[in-house]
Amino acid sequence: MPLIELHMLNSGKKHAAGARVFSAPEMTGGAAERHSAGLIVLCGAGKRYGNGCHGLRPTSLSIAKGSFVAVIGPSGAGKSTMLRLINGLEAASCGQIRIDDETLGPRNLRRIRSRVAMVFQHFNLVNRLSAMTNVLTGRLAYRSWLGSVLYLFREEDMAIAHESLARVGLIDKAWERADQLSGGQQQRVGIARALAQRPEVILADEPVASLDPVASEEVLSLLHQICKQDGITVVVNLHQIELACRYADRILGLNGGELVFDGPAEALNEQALKSIYHRDGVVADANPELALAHA
Ligand code: ADP
Ligand code: MG
Repeated sequence: MPLIELHMLNSGKKHAAGARVFSAPEMTGGAAERHSAGLIVLCGAGKRYGNGCHGLRPTSLSIAKGSFVAVIGPSGAGKSTMLRLINGLEAASCGQIRIDDETLGPRNLRRIRSRVAMVFQHFNLVNRLSAMTNVLTGRLAYRSWLGSVLYLFREEDMAIAHESLARVGLIDKAWERADQLSGGQQQRVGIARALAQRPEVILADEPVASLDPVASEEVLSLLHQICKQDGITVVVNLHQIELACRYADRILGLNGGELVFDGPAEALNEQALKSIYHRDGVVADANPELALAHA
């Protein structure tokens, strides 16, 4: 089974090498069955914001368990919207999202979210708290409301948090305040917090956009290791195409809320890059280097 398959309901043309495009009738039968095999499945899922803006046009795709997927595209392409839809931070305005065959909805939102951890560009740590306490907050989904408010954790939570910090190589920083750590270390705490959730999926929204190249490499390499060793599915939004090509099993390219590329790094040729980074009415974007400068 291929690691990634994308079927777009809203277009009949082939956008770029590696992208497989099907019209709506072809979504029945075999294609629909193959979708249901994925851990994360979007079935015509899209988001139209209140102001009429299409954050994500109706999109159907399936992401296999244990795969490492990079989502690329210029600013405003819909990368964050796609991730927010997958963890239910944003409700889809059409279609459905399924995680492990369960359709995301108000009744199971909390439970599904506990299995889908997020990693953020600006880390979203509580600065005044220690690295350990920040990681422990990853356990809150498993605790009562009162326990959450009072930061009451069980011994089991402490063991999981300890193990998670060790996994990201920061056990020696466990009791340092989050804001005393470097950017790369703070992001590793963010990853440890995600791991403490014991998730099936990690969604990372531009996790290296605020880091220097060395720390970026460390963070992506860590996410890749976690994906391949623990079988946790990772979907990461990235601006750096070179990193996406090196780490991802599959690359999704978005432009204007539309999925215009779906394929492996080898298929990401000049034509594909143009389709991902072109801007309507801007002739200069025919040059991929200039297009990337706008990414
Ligand atoms: P990306 O992460 O690729 O930069 P986003 O998913 O943040 O893109 O945004 C996709 C589009 O949706 C953009 O045009 C953006 O302006 C719009 N958008 C995002 N969030 C909102 C919102 N809360 N309300 C209205 N429009 C939004
Ligand atoms: Mg974004």
